[in-house]
Amino acid sequence: MLDTAVIGSGMAGTAVATELERLGREYIVLEAGPHQGRAHIAADEGSAHLADPAQDPAFTPFLAQPGTPYGPLSGYRRRVGGRSLYWRGICLRIEDDALREWPAEVRRALLGTDGEPGLYARTEAALRAWSGGTRLTQARTETEEAMAKELAGLGYPAVPTPRAIRTLGQGRWEAYSPVTGLPSERIRTGHRVSAVRKRAEGGYSLILDDGDGPALDARHIVLCAGTVGNIELVDGLVHGQHREPRRYSLVDHVACGMLVVEDGRHGAMESSVHAGFDAPSRSNLIVERQRHGSGVLMDAWAMGEQPPEAASTVLVGDRTSIVLEPPALAALDEVRREQRNLLREFARRTGLKARFREEYVSFDEALAQAEAQPGTAVVYDATIGELDHESGGLPLDGEHVDVAGHLREAPGVAVAGPCLIPRAGAANPSLTTLALARYVVQHMS
Ligand SMILES: Cc1cc2nc3c(=O)[nH]c(=O)nc-3n(C[C@H](O)[C@H](O)[C@H](O)COP(=O)(O)OP(=O)(O)OC[C@H]3O[C@@H](n4cnc5c(N)ncnc54)[C@H](O)[C@@H]3O)c2cc1C
Repeated sequence: MLDTAVIGSGMAGTAVATELERLGREYIVLEAGPHQGRAHIAADEGSAHLADPAQDPAFTPFLAQPGTPYGPLSGYRRRVGGRSLYWRGICLRIEDDALREWPAEVRRALLGTDGEPGLYARTEAALRAWSGGTRLTQARTETEEAMAKELAGLGYPAVPTPRAIRTLGQGRWEAYSPVTGLPSERIRTGHRVSAVRKRAEGGYSLILDDGDGPALDARHIVLCAGTVGNIELVDGLVHGQHREPRRYSLVDHVACGMLVVEDGRHGAMESSVHAGFDAPSRSNLIVERQRHGSGVLMDAWAMGEQPPEAASTVLVGDRTSIVLEPPALAALDEVRREQRNLLREFARRTGLKARFREEYVSFDEALAQAEAQPGTAVVYDATIGELDHESGGLPLDGEHVDVAGHLREAPGVAVAGPCLIPRAGAANPSLTTLALARYVVQHMS
């Protein structure tokens, strides 16, 4: 019997495996997808287009129901490394207001106590060390530095966006992925775990998709199959196969932005500035510039929290679906309204002429309009599920998972990933995912 099996080799699975490796534990990582190299997609000109799910053969939707939230738009990158090889490296801590709703013990572990650095500070230090000692908020381009100064002059608490990236020259960069440090022999590819079953003799059996081979048995399991995948595996373990659909909550981020095509030049490396957190829209404001044809594209976007009282519902039964009830849709509209107010104020302070429409406008539609009217800002929306920030469902100290990240119903089974987040706030999830991976392993017996 294996000592520890980690299911999934994405951001959470490889961060957990890194900790297990450091502690000298016996473990293997089971990954549904193949090994396709460990380079971040932005590191190579030939693979940068994979950021677009439509062009990525590894893209595997969570659900395939067109026209529904989280329909074919959002999903895994089913390969070793998962989405850790696609993320943009934006590393924000969850803001205090949201963290206040976390279990006190976990909050203390993240923030530290009595001068002891917490897991956030330790994770940031590790990311800084990985990037060669550069601060996460170090300006990476001259434009970035100039934008931060300009926005600070307009009253925004602006800093270069904290990112765990290394610049590689010629506009290329890579974001941190824990997969790069893992020994290959620890990762078994093509192993999709379809179910986890308790063994009468102790430990667990992992049922593999290909079915025919013998099940793998392990004493400890860490579920790292992404938020939706973890919910499905936990549901199967706790409720068995023949069951009524069960409900889990899920939250994501909602974004609304403004595009302007400008004259001028920009280097090949994009520039990104974090212009602070806006309380009314519960959003972070990020302003970016990148080369666009013979000019520059400015994208000022607000990314905010899907309010917990307006969470989506994951229904797990024979087939998984994700539903947004009408009150949730109304609450999301309210967030979008506030985000538009934030962008209106941004346009006012920066002296931009902006076209605001209340109805939903996709990024591509807004870009076409912005290209047709250079100098005018055009607003766009990102639908729920589009941002790959799905979280919650199995929150720490919730119905299924205890405060240490272990399944209440199944001793020896731990969970890692954004699914553990009790209150997401506006921050991108991965800094918290990396910090919580350490937390969960620290609490394993
Ligand atoms: C283009 C892009 C940009 C992003 N930018 C940022 C950013 O700047 N900042 C930020 O914080 N976040 C960002 N994210 C989000 C971040 O990447 C995700 O939140 C994070 O990767 C989720 O980690 P995870 O381990 O839960 O899932 P994943 O990284 O998706 O890993 C899940 C892994 O499990 C495997 N798997 C699933 N089911 C099974 C099974 N049953 N058996 C075996 N294996 C299985 C999958 O194949 C996959 O490899 C971005 C995402 C994308 C796509």
